[in-house]
Order: sequence, then C-alpha cells, then structure tokens
Amino acid sequence: MIFMKRDNKSDKLSLYLAEFCNRQLEREYFYHEMHDALRYIKPLCIVLGALYLLFFIPDYIFMKGSPNLKIIFIGRVSFFILIIFLSIKLRKLKRLHILSYCFTIYELLLFVSFMIIAFVYESPTFLLLCFSLIIIILAIFTIPNRWIFMVTTSLFISFSFFLLSPIFIENIDFLQFSASIIYTLIAIVICSFSSYRINCHNRMQYIVERKLEKLSSTDHLTEICNRLKFDTELDKWIRYSIRYKSDLSLILFDIDHFKIINDQYGHLQGDKVIIDIVNIVNRYIRDTDVFARWGGEEFIVLLPGTNIIEAEELATFLRKKIAKHNFSRVPKVTCSFGVVSLEKDDDKISFIARADKLLYAAKEAGRNTVMTQFMLENLQIHELEQ
Ligand code: GH3
Ligand code: MG
Ligand code: MG
Repeated sequence: MIFMKRDNKSDKLSLYLAEFCNRQLEREYFYHEMHDALRYIKPLCIVLGALYLLFFIPDYIFMKGSPNLKIIFIGRVSFFILIIFLSIKLRKLKRLHILSYCFTIYELLLFVSFMIIAFVYESPTFLLLCFSLIIIILAIFTIPNRWIFMVTTSLFISFSFFLLSPIFIENIDFLQFSASIIYTLIAIVICSFSSYRINCHNRMQYIVERKLEKLSSTDHLTEICNRLKFDTELDKWIRYSIRYKSDLSLILFDIDHFKIINDQYGHLQGDKVIIDIVNIVNRYIRDTDVFARWGGEEFIVLLPGTNIIEAEELATFLRKKIAKHNFSRVPKVTCSFGVVSLEKDDDKISFIARADKLLYAAKEAGRNTVMTQFMLENLQIHELEQ
C-alpha cells in the first residue's frame, strides 16, 4: 500500500510514503500546498490554542483550591502564547519547508503540556485522558504536514502515553487499558489511511493542473508559449516597463517562402524546419525573454530590459544563424525580422502593429532582412535621394 507507482515511464509521478519520489517536484508541491493552506492554518492554530486554554474552566471546577491548579494554568497559558507566536511568525515565513518540522515540534509540545497537566490532576480519569489523546491525534492529522510525520508523531505520542499512564495513574482497569490501546491504534490507522489517500490524490491533481496549465499556455508543435500566454506576458511587461521606465523590445519574424518549402518537401519537413528554427532561437535568448508562436510560421520574442540597438543586434545574429543552419532536407531557410522598442504612447496593439509593419517592410526589402524604424526611415530617405 505504501509504494505506489502511477506511471512506469516517468519517475516524476511515482509516490513513496505519500510523497513524490522526485524531490524537486515534491518541494514545488509542498510550497504550493502550504502557500494555500497558510490561509486557514493561522485561524485553525488560534482556535485550537484557544480551545486548549478554555479547558482551564473544567480544570478550575475539578481542582478548585489545589496548589497544582497554578501549574495547569501556566501549562495552558504558555502553550497558547506559543501558538500566538507561531501564527505571527507564519505571516512572515518565507522558507515554507521548515513548516513541517515546526508543526511537528508544536504537536510534541502540545503533548508534553497535556501530559504534565494530566498527571498533576489529583485523580486523573484514564478514559478521559484517552479521549483527549485521540483528539490530539485528530488535530495532528488535520494540520497539513508530511504524511510520514503525522503517522510517526501520533504513534510516538500514543506509545509514550500508554507507557507513562500506568506509572502516574493507579489501578487502571486492564480491560479499559487494552481496549484504549486498540481503539487509539484503530483511530491512527483510519486517519493514516484517509490522509494517505488524500495526499496521493492531491498530488495527482497537482500534476493534472500543471499539465492543463502547460497545455493552455504552450504551442503543441514547438512547446514554446502560445499566443494566449504571450498576450498575458506582454500586458505584464508593458505595465512593468512603464512603471519602472525600463526598456522593452519586440522581435517579430516570419519564415521566408515557407509555402514553397511545404510544397517542395512536404508538410512534415516544414514542421521540422519550424522546430529547428525554434531551437536555434531558444539557444540564444535569455530566460526572461518571452518567445511565442504568433501564427503558423510567424514568431515573436519579447525582450524585457533590452533597448532597440541590442534587440536589432540579436535579430541580426538570429537571422545569420538561421540562414547558415544546415536543415536536414531543406537546403536553405531564411527569415525576415521586424524589430521595435516600446515608445511613450505605445499600447499593446500599436506596439505589435509597428513590429508587423516593419516585418512587412523587411519582406518588401527582399527578405532575409532585419528592419527597425530607423533603418526603414534611412531606406526611404535613400530611395527619395535616388
Ligand atoms: P513569405 O516569405 O511572404 O512569408 O511567404 P510564405 O510562403 O511564408 O507566406 P505565408 O506566410 O502566406 O505562408 C505561410 C505558410 O505556412 C502557409 C501554411 O500552410 C504554412 N504553415 C502554417 N503553419 C504551419 C505548420 O504548423 N506546419 C507547416 N508545415 N506549415 C505551416
Ligand atoms: Mg512566411
Ligand atoms: Mg506568415
């Protein structure tokens, strides 16, 4: 039951002890889960802490006048203060992976405080303590944590409880004692089983969500961004550049005479050309650049923090690399490029429209060409002079 292999081909989806075998993936999942869970963990911690504090009322009724009442009060209040401290810290916590250790330590502290209070009672009732132990176990399985930590912590505290209780409580009924051990173990097994299933299910769901997200944002053939994803990235970077007054450039390029390539070498070879060109471009752009398939054989590269001169240099470099590339069947492939930088009055539409116009001008100028606004103006002046 513990080892679960979902997909023989990919180690990514294998689960061991209700966690991904792939540590990197597990870390990403844990961050994602904890980030969401933090919203309800904080109030949950405070409610549990307050409940624990409120139990001082029955303590007071049963222990009125006892000197041990002070110890119980200190025990309950200190744990409540620790809980408040944790919920304040949770707000600022960045390294979420330490949360699993943090929660486990708190659970152990809760158990220690519970044991101290239980055993300073003048005549503790074994069965009542057992009920409280089961409540603590339920709380352990409710607070999100690594499955293995939940199981070992609940087993450890139960073991300690059943080991220590005969020392502090006199004349425990043997039948009650053995039945309590069995019931507690059954509670742990049920909680472990359901939490194991939930953990596995959540991880599978996470993988499906990631796949869906990838499918909705990438182009099937080339695996670069699709137009939808590019649109959202463009919006984001335009807002960023306006706000921080940083450079933003755009390269729009199109494969020259691609129809002829398709007609002469077939559609499959055409697809290979597209993939090869995408690989060439991917090799030379930065991680922060956004590369997308704009249309059939038309591509777009958004270059944050890049001015027009640098963008033009990159486009020329790519143009040469593509023109020199040895495509397996197709002898020569070239591309034409339109390059623009974001200007004061630009919005998304005008920004792309300018690049499109320049791409058209590059085609007009004979293809296998890079065209910027400055180049186009120079060309027009030159033509007028002639
Ligand atoms: P130009 O130099 O003016 O750009 O000429 P062109 O032949 O490339 O002209 P156009 O842009 O009109 O033609 C694009 C062709 O690309 C038409 C379409 O059949 C083909 N195409 C679009 N998407 C794909 C694809 O995914 N795979 C293949 N193999 N061909 C595609
Ligand atoms: Mg074309
Ligand atoms: Mg085209």
